[in-house]
Amino acid sequence: MKNLLFIPGPVTVSERVLEAMNQPLIDHRGPEFGILVERIYDGLRPLFGTQESEIILLGSSGTGGMEAAVANAFSPGDTLLAAPMGGFGERFIAIARKYGMNVDAIETRPGFALDPRAFAQKLAADEDRRYRGILLTHNETSTGVQSDMAELAAIAQAHGALTIVDSVSGLGATDFRMDEWGYDIVISASQKVIAAPPGVAMLAVSPRAWKTIEESKAPRFYFDLLKAREFAGQGQMPWTSPVSAMFALDVALAQYHREGAPAVHRRLAIYAQAIRAAFEALGLEIFSQPGAHSVTVVTAKIPSGVDAAKLLRGLRENRGVVLAGGQLDLKGKIIRMGTMGNISQTDVLGAIEAIEIALIDYDVPVQIGAAGKAALSVFLNLDDATPGDAQKRNARMDAQTTGTSL
Ligand SMILES: *Cc1c(COP(=O)(O)O)cnc(C)c1O
Repeated sequence: MKNLLFIPGPVTVSERVLEAMNQPLIDHRGPEFGILVERIYDGLRPLFGTQESEIILLGSSGTGGMEAAVANAFSPGDTLLAAPMGGFGERFIAIARKYGMNVDAIETRPGFALDPRAFAQKLAADEDRRYRGILLTHNETSTGVQSDMAELAAIAQAHGALTIVDSVSGLGATDFRMDEWGYDIVISASQKVIAAPPGVAMLAVSPRAWKTIEESKAPRFYFDLLKAREFAGQGQMPWTSPVSAMFALDVALAQYHREGAPAVHRRLAIYAQAIRAAFEALGLEIFSQPGAHSVTVVTAKIPSGVDAAKLLRGLRENRGVVLAGGQLDLKGKIIRMGTMGNISQTDVLGAIEAIEIALIDYDVPVQIGAAGKAALSVFLNLDDATPGDAQKRNARMDAQTTGTSL
């Protein structure tokens, strides 16, 4: 049975991206590889919104990128301010504490985005500039919440501490302007919005961050960014590169740009909106708060009396639809459905119907067909266009996301 992968990373990759991995390996110190790496840098720059920063690729998942940022930018004994909104924000704190940093955290209720006023107050209270750094999450994948990074940037800039952003599941999904907003290090990874296989973490590092990195006294070896920078200048990585994953990343970036950033942003936003509408029609309560909804992952509460693990297992084994459950404290309480990857509107509709059937199996009272209709109404844009135009637009969008037509 064909599986529809709706977890928030790794995601479904296109045929072309898969084929890219199926080619002979090349010398990771040779000229061809250098050209590949340069092309990847060029493909990534517009996603980060940076000309000034250097792009560093690491052979690791996103967490390695987070560890590299923390271990290179700060020193043991430094005090940092973190603003976790869920599990990934907590992971950032755990990394910093392991490296001997003191971390103050702003509490945010699960499902809510960081309150800009609380963030501003906390930084304003730091009159003697104790905070050497700030750790932010762009898109908190564990709760399905997205922050307004332009607004938070202005607040962070007023304080002046080095600001690091985990945008692993956010970069490429919405407009990101690192240079304009003044962020210092932004981290992402290959297996989320860009829709390549896992294996490559990418960081954009500002000129100001490099100065701090040169002074950092934290121990690091594999993730030494100064060493990575030295090699990056020659289109290489310090250690053996994940060559096949980089072939795939290169093709995935080309596909991203062929579709065009505005079209990708729109596609993800529409999928998220359609899934939320369908979940609500099924009687599921959306977990993320209005105004804080992520475009890359939708979260919903599990109805009482439904065993989340069993529901997800049934969907996977009987219907070939793979969703994610909650993490840490949210385990058993929510389901998470990603919008990223090479998935079509047809795939989304199929998955929604599978979830509907699974809920009916649990005797959850649902109005048959309401979920599909709710999602379809979003896809057909029935609220603000003549159906004819909307249907044409819909058909075009669907073709764009099937992979083969790209
Ligand atoms: C996926 C993800 C990560 C990194 O996870 P890895 O499994 O190490 O790639 C980090 N932060 C966020 C917000 C994520 O969604």
